[in-house]
Amino acid sequence: PYDGPSREEVIALRTQYVSPGVITYYKDPLMIVEGKMQYVWDEKGSRYLDAFAGIVTVSVGHCHPQIIEKVQAQTGKLQHTTTIYLHPTIAQFAEKLAAKMPEGLSRTYFTNSGSEANEIAILSAREHTGNTDVIALRNCYHGGTATTMGLTAHGTWKFKTNPALNVLHTHAGYCYRCPYGLSYPSCDLRCAHDVKDVIQYQTSGEVACFIGEPIQGVGGAVTPPKEFFQVVYDIVRQHGGLCIADEVQGGFGRTGEHYWSHQNWGVVPDGITMAKGIGNGAPLGAFTTTPDISQVMKNRIHFNTYGGNPISMTQGLATLEVIDEQGIQENARVIGGHLKERLLGLQEKHALIGEVRGMGLMLGVELVRNRQTKEPANTEAASVMERMKEHGVLIGKGGLHGNTLRIKPPMCLTKDDADYLVDTLDICLDKLKS
Ligand code: PMP
Repeated sequence: PYDGPSREEVIALRTQYVSPGVITYYKDPLMIVEGKMQYVWDEKGSRYLDAFAGIVTVSVGHCHPQIIEKVQAQTGKLQHTTTIYLHPTIAQFAEKLAAKMPEGLSRTYFTNSGSEANEIAILSAREHTGNTDVIALRNCYHGGTATTMGLTAHGTWKFKTNPALNVLHTHAGYCYRCPYGLSYPSCDLRCAHDVKDVIQYQTSGEVACFIGEPIQGVGGAVTPPKEFFQVVYDIVRQHGGLCIADEVQGGFGRTGEHYWSHQNWGVVPDGITMAKGIGNGAPLGAFTTTPDISQVMKNRIHFNTYGGNPISMTQGLATLEVIDEQGIQENARVIGGHLKERLLGLQEKHALIGEVRGMGLMLGVELVRNRQTKEPANTEAASVMERMKEHGVLIGKGGLHGNTLRIKPPMCLTKDDADYLVDTLDICLDKLKS
């Protein structure tokens, strides 16, 4: 049993000593002290189904025994030296990643977070092309560092004194809230073609890159039509830009059909950024690109003290092995498919559910007060999230208005867990009515 400080003591310590910028999720903050596969426990021993996976980070399960064993062994042998000396793990992990990549993408730069990986990607694209302008999608999230906060397109995440230099935003393929009021497919992908206007009106005509999440994470599982990324990639390439896929949330089998979420759109990016699920909870990020593009990182000396450290590399490698060996992607496809089907069933019963979207185990449920006006049901979403916790299920929420429930559990989720989740959501939505 847990014998550390009480929740109240921890709250008092946090309030006094931790930056107020470090936020908690629930009105009555939850303390998690243990985790095993898809479950976590609070200090009192109550169990929760973790359907948010530490914000989509715990890809194969909390404290997965095969991963823990390898990391513990590495921790006892060598924790850190930095990459100025050789160590087998960075080389082995990079080789393993290259084996999972589309052809041509084989060189990896390791970081400690997704934001840093995106920084390296943007820097590389700018150095490689000699252009500065970067295009991102509305409603995206790419990080909290200066450049990536600029890329991020939600006012909530943007500090007003942080300048977003040379960043332009084009439409996401957000059909449920089409900015033109059109419908797919008669719209002819007008949202995707908007990138051409953005380039022509707002840049010299040459851009460094486009960066996009194939399915938006923080944005609330926004999933564009199947031609969307091909149209955008073609236009960006015609204007000298590279195309970067941010796979921080969607990668490593989470979308089920494919290992990488961009593969669902049939495109091949020039670089891929990764974090979160790559290491099942290790502070680990990466940018993989072609040998040619990777050369630019030698233009000056660039160094990251912890990037590529033996412990993160060991955890990343062990995570990828588990994904391969234990049918994780297939489970995301099958259980995710079942979960989505059941959520679509709930939509028939609850008028509050405007749209169910996403793929595999990367799902979103957008709540609206009125299906015609699509008025965002943000307070309702917050209340559902609170009630789900009371019933032992942790989920997330996102989207510009915070009205989309986000369901992204560890990919070892079972059918029973999925059913429990949907039954619980059903009860919580019912309670909103009373
Ligand atoms: N890209 C995406 C798609 C993300 O969801 C996030 C984190 N939510 C990031 C980048 C930034 O990652 P980190 O918090 O590790 O810097």
